[in-house]
Amino acid sequence: PPHTRWVTKGWLRFSVIIRFKRNCNRGVISMSKSIVSLARALDFAARKHTGQTRKGELAEPYVNHVADVASLLAEVTNGRDPILVIGGLLHDTIEDTETTFEELKAEFGLPVARLVQEVTDDKSLPKEERKKLQVSHAGSKSRRAKLLKIADKTSNLRSMIASPPKGWSTERMREYVNWSTKVVKKCRGYNLELDNAFDEAKAAARVSLQRRAKARTGATTKRRKR
Ligand code: ZN
Repeated sequence: PPHTRWVTKGWLRFSVIIRFKRNCNRGVISMSKSIVSLARALDFAARKHTGQTRKGELAEPYVNHVADVASLLAEVTNGRDPILVIGGLLHDTIEDTETTFEELKAEFGLPVARLVQEVTDDKSLPKEERKKLQVSHAGSKSRRAKLLKIADKTSNLRSMIASPPKGWSTERMREYVNWSTKVVKKCRGYNLELDNAFDEAKAAARVSLQRRAKARTGATTKRRKR
C-alpha cells in the first residue's frame, strides 16, 4: 500500500542521513574533499620534510618514505579510508619536523591529527626507551594507528634492503628486523594484505642479510688464505 511505501521511503532517507552523520563523526570524508585533502597533505609533507633525507646510502628525499607508506595503505584498503592515507603522508611530521598537533588539527581535522599523534614517539626520551615503548604501547593503539605502524615498518624494511643505512652493520639491521617484527605482532590481524606485505618484506630482508653475512665471511676467509 502507498502508505507503507511512504514510510519505507521516509525511513530510508532518514537512515541515509544518520549514516552520513555517523561517517562524518568517524572521520569519513567525501570523495572530492578527500582528493583535495590528499593533495594538500602531500604538499604539506613535502614542504615540512624539505632538506631531510633517508638514512640509506641512496639518501632519497624523506618525502619518498611517506609517499611509500601512504600508497601502501591506499592499496591494501582499496582507497576506502582517506583519513588513513592522509595520516600516512603526515605520519612523521610531528616527530621529525616543526609541526604541532594543533596545526594538523586546523589543516586536516581532528581524526587525522589524532592519528598522527598516536604514531608519534616522545622524542624527549632516549632512543632505546622509545623503541621499548613502541613495542609495549602498540597493542593499545587504534585500528588506523596499527595499520599505519605496519605500513611504516614494511616501508622501512624495504628501503633498508634496497639502500642500507650508512654505517649499519648486518647485526644492527638484523636487530631492526626483529624489533619491527615485535611491534607488528601487536598490530596485525586487521588487514591480511598488509600483514602479508610486512611478512614478505621481512622474509626478503632476512634473505638479504644472510647473503650479506655469507659474503662477508667469504671475504674474510679469502683474505686469511692470502
Ligand atoms: Zn615513517
